[in-house]
Amino acid sequence: MGDDTIVAVATPPGTGGISIIRLSGPEAERILRAVFFWKRGEDQAPDDIRLKRDSIESHRLCYGHLMDGTETVDECMAVLMRAPRSYTREDVAELHLHGGSYVVSRAMELCLRHGARMAEPGEFTRRAFLNGRIDLSQAEAVMGLIAARGEAEHHFALRQLEGGAATFIRKASDELYALQAGLAACIDYPEEISDEEGAGALRPGIEKLIRSLREAVDERSSRLLSDGLQVALCGRPNVGKSSLLNALLGEDRAIVTEIPGTTRDALQGEMTLNGMRVLLTDTAGLRHTEDPVEKIGVARSEKILREADVRAMVLDGSQALTAEETAWVKELGKEDIIILNKADLPPVVQAEKIQEMAPGVPVLTLSAKNPSSLDPLKELLRRRLMVSDRMILSQPRHVETVRRAIRHLEDALHTLESMTPDVAAVDLQAAQAALAEITGDQADERLLDEVFSRFCVGK
Ligand code: GDP
Repeated sequence: MGDDTIVAVATPPGTGGISIIRLSGPEAERILRAVFFWKRGEDQAPDDIRLKRDSIESHRLCYGHLMDGTETVDECMAVLMRAPRSYTREDVAELHLHGGSYVVSRAMELCLRHGARMAEPGEFTRRAFLNGRIDLSQAEAVMGLIAARGEAEHHFALRQLEGGAATFIRKASDELYALQAGLAACIDYPEEISDEEGAGALRPGIEKLIRSLREAVDERSSRLLSDGLQVALCGRPNVGKSSLLNALLGEDRAIVTEIPGTTRDALQGEMTLNGMRVLLTDTAGLRHTEDPVEKIGVARSEKILREADVRAMVLDGSQALTAEETAWVKELGKEDIIILNKADLPPVVQAEKIQEMAPGVPVLTLSAKNPSSLDPLKELLRRRLMVSDRMILSQPRHVETVRRAIRHLEDALHTLESMTPDVAAVDLQAAQAALAEITGDQADERLLDEVFSRFCVGK
């Protein structure tokens, strides 16, 4: 139990239907009693508004008034959730107020005046973790759920919240303990188990563990989940990149004109496919230019192109390819896409010809002016967004930590090769420590600060 009582506004700032203020800690009930007064029942005197109940029933939403002395601040609802049946496993009280900044700030000020302390970001969840209600990966899943922008992120966060990550890590950790015990026996009884025998027995176990850890952290899927698929629309000016971006996003995001070079800077838009985010960037027309403003745009485009997952090269099918375009097409890779736009106009460039220049790169013929012609493009992007359902750990911190654990296990394999079991023991221990950082079974204050600082206040 935290020894002080924390308070925070749990709902977003601004006006709304209701705002919720949440208290957690040993003083939660006392503070609630000091500021909230139950509405009189039919049998009480009309002026008896300040009447307080002797015993507050836990987990029951009550109607009453928020009072500052004799002044009524708001007509509201309140609930007390006694420990341990609460989010933090401490006494938790909530005030459900009218959602306006004045009422909320008065309520906060009242709670602070009666002894509560302003909560740090994520402090409620941190308490839930410290009080053993959830492990660290579940605490992070809470944040993942809040931050989820699509179905897939939501799916993996929920799976993590239900303990999927922790169960997997604890099982891996148990397997590792068994390997450590085997190695310890080999170190302690050198007469009975030769280094060679010991290493021989351990190697398959370590290799198996590495395989299962690798499978659990599909790095590509994890990155797709957190960053989305980055698609850069590129091509010379006037081929229809902005029009295509608008058509895909279904809105007039980019400025479309017939003057080449209108799109001077990168324009971005986001859409959701398969419950995942696709970030589309319409890069400034790639071309040699002396215009200093346009030059900046072109340089920025080149950076976006380098970093994108997919380069979607747009060509104007109604005009012959320039020498520059031919060169670009030949540079594309299998992960890229060639879009032959303006299919509604008489064709000058044939898809087959382009395909010959770029074997293995998908070539799609479409028209930005005809929305249904974009379906094959969306389908192709959807396929690029497939996320492995075998992925158990999806958060970047977990992926990074598991990668570290794998490195230590690989080091252990190397040291076993050179017959130094005591060094291998240190490697296995380091791998064990890394795994424990995921569940928080071994987490120092610095790690906890780092994890919870990413939370919002009030959660
Ligand atoms: P960007 O410079 O590559 O971004 O090209 P824009 O999107 O600004 O388009 C240049 C011109 O081509 C505009 O006049 C668009 O209306 C036109 N355009 C774009 N896509 C198509 C298409 O599929 N068919 C036809 N007929 N015109 C198009």
